[in-house]
Amino acid sequence: MTDAFDLSEASDEFLAAPARLTIDLTAVANNWRDMAKRSGKARAAAVVKADAYGLGIEDVGRTLYHAGARDFFVAVPAEGATLRAYAPEARIFVLSGIWPGAEHFFFDYDLVPVLASEEQLAFWMSAVAEHGDHPCALHVDTGFNRLGLSIEEALALADDVSRPASFSPVLVLSHLACADDPSSPMNRQQLESFRRVSAAFEGIDSSLSASAGIFLGPEYHFDLTRPGIAIYGGEAVNGVPNPMRPTIKAEARILQIREAKAGESVSYGASLKLARDSRLAIASAGYADGYQRSVSGSGVGLRQTGIAGAHGFIAGHKVPVAGRVTMDLTIFDVTDVPANAIAAGDYIELFGPNMPLDDVARAAGTIGYELLTSVGLRYERHYNETE
Ligand SMILES: *Cc1c(COP(=O)(O)O)cnc(C)c1O
Repeated sequence: MTDAFDLSEASDEFLAAPARLTIDLTAVANNWRDMAKRSGKARAAAVVKADAYGLGIEDVGRTLYHAGARDFFVAVPAEGATLRAYAPEARIFVLSGIWPGAEHFFFDYDLVPVLASEEQLAFWMSAVAEHGDHPCALHVDTGFNRLGLSIEEALALADDVSRPASFSPVLVLSHLACADDPSSPMNRQQLESFRRVSAAFEGIDSSLSASAGIFLGPEYHFDLTRPGIAIYGGEAVNGVPNPMRPTIKAEARILQIREAKAGESVSYGASLKLARDSRLAIASAGYADGYQRSVSGSGVGLRQTGIAGAHGFIAGHKVPVAGRVTMDLTIFDVTDVPANAIAAGDYIELFGPNMPLDDVARAAGTIGYELLTSVGLRYERHYNETE
């Protein structure tokens, strides 16, 4: 079997890049199939908003379509228009819904708006009266207080015999607030509320769970599940081992290795004082590449928390960030790596199969989702298909 992050097919640009991403599309497909299996009798959609969580909507959309996904969720209409070319027969739901001026996207690219308010409903009904029948979905709020009709509004709509025949919802959905914490009582409260809504819209599909909700078990699956982060290998549920395969490796080139003496300081603010003679590797990625400034350790006085900074991975060693991350460059303390094991020109893994995305995110005081969607434009990319 080929190594998932194998670079034998990579371009010269990629092999010389200051910073590079290797994306394993086979792992993306396998993670989606895994979530489809975990969804039991329900169909699994694929959430590909925000450029497929930073991995690239074109390649990820095409891969998941070939893997069998036929329902996709994006956040905004333009994402749906891009995806359409890669998912010709799929149903593409737009989570932000619709507003005046955006309707052409829905009709031109055959997108399904997820309507979330009385205004959006009224606007959609007038749009379909003009353009003719077109599917839509309904978002009902069951406790998140983000988008969605209230439960009362949804139940009234279900009973409304006067609604036009051209108004034909194909899906009713809601979103869980605390599914990453299986012990939260919120999960069951939202489930009970959603059951009432789902029953009122008998005959159309219901959807409640994103990645974390799928792990809560069959009661939470309804007809359609909406995994996102799990497809990309990120952690959905807190405090349990992550069963998903990593899909992305971010690496930065070492530009220079330097020796520094005990007592000297490192990076902006000079707040890291070296306790020993040290060897420092200067890596070609920084916060402009989404390697967030907050991954700098608490030793730099950046934050008041006791969280240590992140680590990179090089030559079989985990090495800590030294001092503040800067815009384009990050300094790692490689004193404990044998001097002959690394050289300028080598790559250090910022996150990937050897340095879990969520460990780096935790060091930054955030979640894998934010790290992924922040990767930025400077990375050279290589997509692997090992299937
Ligand atoms: C982003 C999103 C999802 C996917 O969530 P994950 O936690 O990434 O699986 C599903 N449903 C809605 C409404 C979302 O906004």
